[in-house]
Amino acid sequence: MTVHPTDLRRQMVDPFGRHITYLRVSVTDRCDFRCVYCMAENMTFLPKREILTLEELDRICSAFIAKGVRKLRITGGEPLVRKDIMTLFRGLKRHLDSGALEELTVTTNGSQLGRYAAELYACGVRRINVSLDTLDPDLFRKITRWGDPDKVMAGIAAARAAGLKVKINMVALRGVNEDEIADMLVWCHGQDMDLTLIETMPLGDIDGDRTDQYLPLSLVRARLRERFTLEDSAHRTGGPARYVTVRETGGRLGFITPMTHNFCESCNRVRLTCTGTLFMCLGQEDAVDLRAPLRASDGDQRLYEAIDAAIARKPKGHDFVIDRRHKKPALSRHMSVTGG
Ligand code: SAM
Ligand code: SF4
Repeated sequence: MTVHPTDLRRQMVDPFGRHITYLRVSVTDRCDFRCVYCMAENMTFLPKREILTLEELDRICSAFIAKGVRKLRITGGEPLVRKDIMTLFRGLKRHLDSGALEELTVTTNGSQLGRYAAELYACGVRRINVSLDTLDPDLFRKITRWGDPDKVMAGIAAARAAGLKVKINMVALRGVNEDEIADMLVWCHGQDMDLTLIETMPLGDIDGDRTDQYLPLSLVRARLRERFTLEDSAHRTGGPARYVTVRETGGRLGFITPMTHNFCESCNRVRLTCTGTLFMCLGQEDAVDLRAPLRASDGDQRLYEAIDAAIARKPKGHDFVIDRRHKKPALSRHMSVTGG
């Protein structure tokens, strides 16, 4: 049977009726930090030839947009350390201009924002997520191992000055930054930045023990309630966070709770690694290679077929468990592979 190209471009709907409208793309597995919950200090990175070129990344993103993706998030590793990364943003801007794409966003550790914030804005980026787990410079160095807190703070300031709306992502770590969460909330909301708290997920081998780091956000929420009034909010950004409004500050607080709460039923996302592997679920191993069909021809037909086959396999949900007995990650790949 021959399939007409326009049929191949139909919207992506998975077996559970979920429309796939959100693509997260990891553009590099490399990073200038070594956050303790994310990477081991001695990481082996992929050889350059395995990585999609910027042109190939543009082609895959464009194919997904043609198939109904409305929101694109560029992540990594650290996306802004990839050489010439602005070429990709400048290219993707055409999809914002045409209206095919609603939003182009970035998740970054903030280290390169001083350099790129204004250009990101010029490329049509309006909102970014910056990961910041502490305001204490010494603790920041401990958590990120290689990060420079002043550079990140200057980067956040540059982003705000450029007109970008900044949301701070903070991974809640037991015994590390748990006492700082309220202060972070006040700091963020004082500058009109939303804050989202993230539970650690058991992805990839790190140097330490993950069961030591895990702090359930149900507990964090209960503690914050002693000091703040948290009002349920219907606000959604298309991502997995659930929000409350903090009455005392007027700001928004998000919770991403893969471990304590199942956020799968409304999942609209798929994730592409920098080697062109599509993961249909952050918490499952099943994946589809898009690099071979991409490189097989200059036309996109095989790519569209591979995408359709992948979406037809999107699982209902994940089964993350921190294996306390074996102290092993639930999945062997690191978050820096799929970009969170
Ligand atoms: N380098 C960028 C950054 O740090 O924002 C983008 C990639 S990073 C992998 C994306 C997000 O995943 C960050 O907010 C980071 O804190 C979070 N993250 C990394 N490893 C994680 C883990 N094991 N559990 C939960 N969140 C994790
Ligand atoms: Fe790098 Fe982001 Fe992972 Fe930290 S969380 S090591 S900044 S990729």
